[in-house]
Amino acid sequence: MELHVRGRKFLEGVRAITCYIVPLHAASQSQWAQLNLVQIMEYKVMDNETIGIFGGSGFYDFAEAGVEEIRVDTPYGPPSDKLARMTVAGRNVVFLPRHGHEHTIPPHRINFRANLWAMKELGVTRIIAPSAVGSLQPNIAPGDFVINDQFVDRTSGRIDTFFDGPVVTHVSTAEPYCPSLRALAIAAARQHGVTVHETGTAVTIQGPRFSTKAESRWFGSQGWSIVGMTQYPEVALARELAICYTAISLVTDYDTGVQIEGGTHVEVTDVMAVMRRNVATVKKVIRTMLEKAAPVRECVCAHALDHARM
Ligand SMILES: [Zn+2]
Repeated sequence: MELHVRGRKFLEGVRAITCYIVPLHAASQSQWAQLNLVQIMEYKVMDNETIGIFGGSGFYDFAEAGVEEIRVDTPYGPPSDKLARMTVAGRNVVFLPRHGHEHTIPPHRINFRANLWAMKELGVTRIIAPSAVGSLQPNIAPGDFVINDQFVDRTSGRIDTFFDGPVVTHVSTAEPYCPSLRALAIAAARQHGVTVHETGTAVTIQGPRFSTKAESRWFGSQGWSIVGMTQYPEVALARELAICYTAISLVTDYDTGVQIEGGTHVEVTDVMAVMRRNVATVKKVIRTMLEKAAPVRECVCAHALDHARM
């Protein structure tokens, strides 16, 4: 006998149901008594939630066993590369290098819509997105992590929505980052001894050029924390698909307009050294996040579209 839940083949053989219910011991007997079979099955379907990671090509060695590379076609064209499906810390993980595995796609040429759509196609409901940034504030030093909670968009010409009509949709980005994933990232960074800033505002510039000193000083004088080239529109598109998203902003250097008392800006070689250290550390942090992430997301992000349609 096959069991279908909302059209999806779920189980073969009723005896198997027992095997699925037994691990779900978190709920009390009385709570389970109130659940009907379909609810229990849906709970288990969600238990297979996949977590996505955008990042540099250093993540292929994350897998505990083989990596399955999957080419995904999207209505928006090809994503940056094949997606790598793997198991990490017992979790289903999909990894996509946003600049391509040879790092050949500059920030302003990334097909963000295709990348997010491809993640969605493979069942991703939560995304962890590390990226390199420059600091706009003296107290945010190279090597620090910022789990920013706001963004400012200073890009131009990037396609930044899935909703081109005819159904007019306005998604809220008042709090654009997932509160649960952010809390996980902060706790994991602390566990690994990283200096982590628990809030902050990330400016995304269009690139590929870096800011002028005047632009950089202006960003800093607004109280904004860090500057990079990829968080927008990645985070906004994730929200439009009701996918949880947290950035992990890895500070590599001070941006050009920052005045550092008694110091000078770091050299490129220093930037590369900081970058290598950051990548090694962020992999440990993300592994801890995967170990500790709730099997089922419990935040509000899944409801991003509930009141967004006109
Ligand atoms: Zn969320």
